Amino acid sequence: MISRRFFLSSAATATFAGLVRPGFAAPSTTVFDGATILDGQSGELRRNWRLVVSGEAIAAIGPAASVQAPPGAQVVTLDGATVLPGIVSDHVHLGAYHGTTSGPAAQNVDVILQQLALYTDFGVTTVASMGTNSAIVYELRRRIRNGDLRGADFLVADRGIGVPKGAPPVTVGADQLDRPETVDQAREAVRSAVSRGADVIKLWLDDFQGAKLVKMAPEIYSAVIEEAHRNNKQVVAHIYYLEDAKALLRAGADVLGHGVRDQRVDAEFMALMQERGAWYIPTLGVDEAFYRFAEAPNTLDDPFVRKALHPDLVAQFQTSAWRDQQLGNPALPQWKAGLQHNLANTKLLFEQGLNVGFGTDSGAMPLRVPGYGEHRELELLVQAGLTPLQAIRLATEKGAAAMKLHDRGVLLAGKRADFLIVDGDPSQSVSVLRQIRGVWAGGRRVSSA
Ligand SMILES: [Zn+2]
Repeated sequence: MISRRFFLSSAATATFAGLVRPGFAAPSTTVFDGATILDGQSGELRRNWRLVVSGEAIAAIGPAASVQAPPGAQVVTLDGATVLPGIVSDHVHLGAYHGTTSGPAAQNVDVILQQLALYTDFGVTTVASMGTNSAIVYELRRRIRNGDLRGADFLVADRGIGVPKGAPPVTVGADQLDRPETVDQAREAVRSAVSRGADVIKLWLDDFQGAKLVKMAPEIYSAVIEEAHRNNKQVVAHIYYLEDAKALLRAGADVLGHGVRDQRVDAEFMALMQERGAWYIPTLGVDEAFYRFAEAPNTLDDPFVRKALHPDLVAQFQTSAWRDQQLGNPALPQWKAGLQHNLANTKLLFEQGLNVGFGTDSGAMPLRVPGYGEHRELELLVQAGLTPLQAIRLATEKGAAAMKLHDRGVLLAGKRADFLIVDGDPSQSVSVLRQIRGVWAGGRRVSSA
């Protein structure tokens, strides 16, 4: 029996796989030695650094020669393994489906907890759920923050603001989505979401490639944005088209929840982004997810991917009927063109120094897989032309900044001790982030793989 007192009263050393066990033991002081660390100040990898975690936060970080190990602290020797900030995913959905089935039945505590634990196991320590949540999430959030339950910390957009007979094209419970018909109803929906505990307000402006005949009217989204700002909440907007994105930026939207996918962005759009200091969450994998597992079925052979998939989903992906259906879908060329625009636009905005965050839309439907989706997004960012470290900084530092989470996203003294320990050099490849030795959140070890 290893007690907390033992850690506090004697200088204990442990190999990573040895004395340190996953679970909910009260956090104490732990020193990580011999680490390669992604330095929050320079954004560079630093070798042979020391990280001191005390309680929920990083107490000290720096070269081993200049950071003292507090007497009595537990010491973990990392032998060159790399410590990176926990991934922050700015666009997910919690409890939208279970197995292969979408719908209101999935909006329950067990399903949501399974998803939150999955994110944790994949090194995603914070997620922002962008709508279609009922009020059950608030008690869960409280218990996760208390350390009573295991899972990623999360922000919520509450129900989200959709359109009668329009976006989003989902079937959910009456307490999972608002579809206001008037400006007054829209304002009331925002106020109710805020009173329940929403962190941000989400709205949808899209016709889903003509599948919906009506889009949100300008007076509705303008009212939503104004009411949200009056309550000090950011507005995250689902978009697809460049012109909608511009209209929303002019109306004051703070975050675009997807990349522009109908065409290349132009100078006017970039000027609006700059002027508003707005954030852009590309979600590169959002269209690719429709055909990824059909086009590359060998993806399923990867144990890392399999760990994220419900057995029913694997069975579905392995049927040729399902693969033929996805690859024969008339929308396939548009999904592929959407990805190409998204890749090019993301690279351009990044090069222009505009605010690019990180998100996936994972959990919105069975094809968008929580945990795996975030690692695929990192690969797609590299495909867009970012270096591995640039992609990782989007997924950590920028992901946190987009959601105004100033207490995390970088490894610096005083920040939350949210990090993952991986084997290998992430400046060479983002696939190194799949070699997870352990995940820590709020100073506790929350996952061993
Ligand atoms: Zn979404």
